[in-house]
Amino acid sequence: MTNRNEQLLTRAKNIIPGGVNSPVRAFGSVGGIPRFIKKAQGAYVWDENGQRYIDYVGSWGPAIVGHAHPEVIEAVREAALDGLSFGAPTEAEIRIAEEIAKIMPSVERVRLVSSGTEATMTAIRLARGYTKRDKIIKFEGCYHGHSDSLLVKAGSGLLTFGNPSSAGVPADFTQHTIVLPYNDTGSLKECFDKMGEQIACVILEPIAGNMNLVKPSQEFIQTLRQITEKHGTVLIYDEVMTGCRVALGGAQSVHGIKPDLTTMGKVIGGGMPLAAFGGKKEIMDCISPLGGVYQAGTLSGNPVAVAAGLKTLEIIQRAGFYENLTALTEQLVRGFNQAAKDAGVTFCADSIGGMFGLYFADKFPNTYADMAASNIDGFKQFFHVMLENGVAFGPSAYEACFMSAAHTPELVDETIAVAQKAFAAMAK
Ligand SMILES: *Cc1c(COP(=O)(O)O)cnc(C)c1O
Repeated sequence: MTNRNEQLLTRAKNIIPGGVNSPVRAFGSVGGIPRFIKKAQGAYVWDENGQRYIDYVGSWGPAIVGHAHPEVIEAVREAALDGLSFGAPTEAEIRIAEEIAKIMPSVERVRLVSSGTEATMTAIRLARGYTKRDKIIKFEGCYHGHSDSLLVKAGSGLLTFGNPSSAGVPADFTQHTIVLPYNDTGSLKECFDKMGEQIACVILEPIAGNMNLVKPSQEFIQTLRQITEKHGTVLIYDEVMTGCRVALGGAQSVHGIKPDLTTMGKVIGGGMPLAAFGGKKEIMDCISPLGGVYQAGTLSGNPVAVAAGLKTLEIIQRAGFYENLTALTEQLVRGFNQAAKDAGVTFCADSIGGMFGLYFADKFPNTYADMAASNIDGFKQFFHVMLENGVAFGPSAYEACFMSAAHTPELVDETIAVAQKAFAAMAK
């Protein structure tokens, strides 16, 4: 049989660097041939060989109501008929901004952008403009998009400034970024004791999904809120992944915390390029044209993207949506944990709302270092058996996985049966 995925990869590599438009898609960390996707519907995606997969990537989170949901497609179609982009304000933008503020009570003002990267980059600029301070804190293993000052790895000492984690980022650009270990309340306090008055903001994934799934301790979360408040530092919850995913109101609703600024993306665009940042009026009013912090975008608040987002937000607020989503995720996690135990494979899975993590170690990670010490090769082996048997996860051990409302208990059982096979193969 000709493998169209392989043929397309060869062709793609001749024109697109590495054959992909975002690096993890290249399967670099798991090996093998990336699947070129032809179409998606509900809980399934199909590749160019015609092979069908039960999908737990969900476009990395947005596909929470299932792929190509008929109501979302209809909303997009209707919006498109009226024009693809105006570069002028629209009523639909107000509606989605109002909707976001309703879902997240910490958000008093909202601005729409086109990607999570833009949202976090601007939120940080805004925090710096508002506080008139330069330094920022991020945590190891948290991803906030690919703007220069956030592509940082920890420096040599705990409180030394970060080093660029990407070529092309001048060390000057990252010298204001401090990288601390996630869940480490001690180092956070130490850092604020030493230079709290210089820190513009702390940005974090309040439930981390870019180093598998790492939950914060209640102590860590509460200390963060108290210490930032005390020092006049802006607390930014990067809920690009967790917003409308771990719960309707995001991680902040789960933790009962009011951050100063919040960034969102993924789910709120329903699969279209839409993201947002918002928060306290006093801070948000520093943004141009009201204030001196600049931000703009030709396609910001794009009408077709907003239509997809609005319909998605409507669907997820229907009765029982999160109860159903959470039950499906918990069913899968329970089944996987039991299957691994039965096969004698060291493994644990955990979840929150419609998000889950698969982890090849005996207990769940608290930090990036924990995650890096897990059995990454075990994940690779598991990943490929699942994929060959029609179940797709993100092609990296460091990625969280996503359930959609289009999955069913029967599909989850089917997935668990495949996992039994995979764990059995691993036990050999
Ligand atoms: C995906 C993600 C981003 C980046 O969003 P893009 O739309 O890919 O630019 C930022 N922060 C978090 C937490 C994310 O998961």
